[in-house]
Formats: sequence, structure tokens, C-alpha cells
Amino acid sequence: MIPVLVVNSGSSSLKFRLIDLTTGDDLASGLIERIGLGEIKDHRGAVEQMMRDLDPVLRVHPPVAVGHRVVHGGTRYTAPTVIDEKVLVGIADLSTLAPLHNPANLVGIEAAMDALPNVTHVAVFDTAFHQTLAPEAYTYALDAEIARAHDIRRYGFHGTSHEYVAGQTAAFLGRPLEELKLIVLHLGNGASACAIDRGASVETSMGLTPLEGLVMGTRSGDIDPAILLHLNRVADLSIDELDRLINRQSGLLGLAGKGDMRDVVDAAEAGDERAELALSVFAHRIRHYIGAYLAQLGGLDAVVFTAGIGENSNVVRERVIAPLAHLGLRLDAGANNERSSVARHISPNGVTPAVLVVPTNEELAIAHAAY
Ligand code: ADP
Repeated sequence: MIPVLVVNSGSSSLKFRLIDLTTGDDLASGLIERIGLGEIKDHRGAVEQMMRDLDPVLRVHPPVAVGHRVVHGGTRYTAPTVIDEKVLVGIADLSTLAPLHNPANLVGIEAAMDALPNVTHVAVFDTAFHQTLAPEAYTYALDAEIARAHDIRRYGFHGTSHEYVAGQTAAFLGRPLEELKLIVLHLGNGASACAIDRGASVETSMGLTPLEGLVMGTRSGDIDPAILLHLNRVADLSIDELDRLINRQSGLLGLAGKGDMRDVVDAAEAGDERAELALSVFAHRIRHYIGAYLAQLGGLDAVVFTAGIGENSNVVRERVIAPLAHLGLRLDAGANNERSSVARHISPNGVTPAVLVVPTNEELAIAHAAY
């Protein structure tokens, strides 16, 4: 047995899983929510709660490593990194780029290191996989001096998931990852697309922050940046109001009044026009990226759907792929409509590019990376 503890310390929640790497099964797991709002006062309190919950299991299965999800690794961290004093400072320094995420990650890490002082703690960064992007892919066409002074560039996120899904895809196809050109669509509450050329991320839709790109549950994804200037001038919306608008009041929620894709699909099927438009915009944006990434990859072996929406919504997959027959992308309706939790083809037998559903498992990927 190889027990590895995975800790995901977010702004108001702490998720943990103790995973046995020999089987990939959970030995224990938990979610502590409403940190700072209810009985749990802060992240230190959340880690104490986690340790109480885990105590009986940890006595029998002490972890060989602890893997921590860290959102922003900047340009500094390109691989899983053993956490020492210097790395703690490094993660804190990167808080200017991820003010909502890195500080919360950090307090969780520090509390967990105090609670489990004799185990190696490893930071696994959401941005690391995308550090292979070429300058022309990560550079925004802004004043170069200003961009450099403030580390403005595309970083990309969901990297642990994109990398894991690419590996699972190669295993499923029985082909070396080094031969494959893939477009991975991670469609959850947060959503991003990634073009993967022979195992390396070459393009991804999230940018400096996890806001850019696809339409998400409550985030707008791509918009004309001048919309923000315009709203500031004509509607007098402040920076904080604009931040809330594009991060929390937009996306599916803004379009359909519902941020959860299940509700949007149900409403659209019941004839709700706003939900219908939300679904169309969602799928249209994804197709936009499939076309762009096909051009950048110069070939394509598979389009891969993953995460909550990608794995579960036959309706969304159909809306995305059905209009793309001219690119050779086709769906097998029977396979697409079948519910399953394993990697599978949803395109007809032998058709290339293939269309696949490959489940992601970020915690398992973090556990492997930490080990
Ligand atoms: P997170 O980014 O929070 O990890 P998930 O990957 O769990 O998110 O994805 C959550 C999204 O998946 C929600 O929008 C949810 O509605 C959607 N989802 C889950 N099951 C289905 C389904 N059967 N049909 C449509 N959407 C689904």
C-alpha cells in the first residue's frame, strides 16, 4: 500500500483525499466548507478538523507524501516541487498573480506541514504543465515594458487535469503520447481547452488568470476587454463591481440565470429561450477553440471531453461536435448517449480524428505527482 494525502485548500473550502496509489482507491476523503463563515474559523481550524477526521485512518495508513494543489506557479515552478522555506516564500510571492488562490493554498500548506511534520510535502501547480507554451502563444500584444514589469502573460490553468487526461488518452488508445496531437476540453464549473502536441501543452484558453477562454458556470470567458472600460465610463461600475460581474455574475449564470449545466440543459429542453441561447453560446465558443487549435496543431488525433460537463453531458457534446463533420469529427449517437464512467470512444469505429470521453481525476494525478 502507498498512501498519499492530497490537500486542496481553497478560499472557503478544504478538500482532502487519502489515496492508495497501488489501487488508486480512496482510503478516506472529506470536504470542509464555509471556512471563516461557520464553526471553522480559519484554514488552520480546517486542517485541525481534517486531522481529527483522518486520525483513525492515518494511524493505520500513514501517508508517504502529502500533495498540495497550488493554483499559480508563475514561470518559476514547472514541475511538482518539494516544499521548504524557500518554496513557501516563492508561493507567497506569486500571490500578486493569484490573490484569491495562492494565499489560501499557502495557509493550508503551512497548517498541514505543522500537523504532519515528518512527511514530505509537495506542491503541484495548476500552471506547470503549460510552461511549454512558445513565446508567440503566451505573449499578449501589450506594451512590452509594462507586461514585463508585471509578469503579464498567458499562464494557463487546469494543467494537472490536462496532463493526466492526455496520459489516460494515450493509454486508452494504446499509442505513445509522443505521437499524438490532442485537443482536451476540460468542462467543469471552470472550463478550459488545451492543445497538446506530443505530450506538451502548446496552447490553452485560460490566460493570466482562470477567467479567459471558454464560457464557464459564472465566468464570462473571452470578452472584448474594452467592455470593462466602457461599463466603467457609461455605467460607473467600479473595479470591484466589474470583477464580480465577469467572475461571478456571467457565464451560464449570466446568460440563463442558472450556473449549473444540468439546470441549463433541463431549462433549454423545456423551451426556455435564455437557456437555449446559453447552450448555443457555450458550444459555439468551444468550436471556436477546436478550429483554432486544429490550425495550431497542424493535425489532430482526438478531441477529448472531460470533467463534470464533458464526462456527463451528451447534449453538450452533441451540440459541440455535430456541426463539425467538415473537419472529419463525427459522433456515434448510441455511444454518446450511453452513460459510463470509463474512457470511451463516442465517434464511430475507426474514424479519425476520434472523439473521446476520458474522465479526469485531479486528486489522483496530484497524488502521483507528489509521489
Ligand atoms: P469543478 O470545476 O467544480 O470541479 P465539475 O468538474 O464537477 O466542476 O463539473 C461541474 C459541472 O458539471 C456542473 O455545471 C454540473 O452541472 C455539470 N454536470 C454534472 N453532471 C452533468 C450532467 N449529467 N449533465 C450536464 N451537466 C452535468
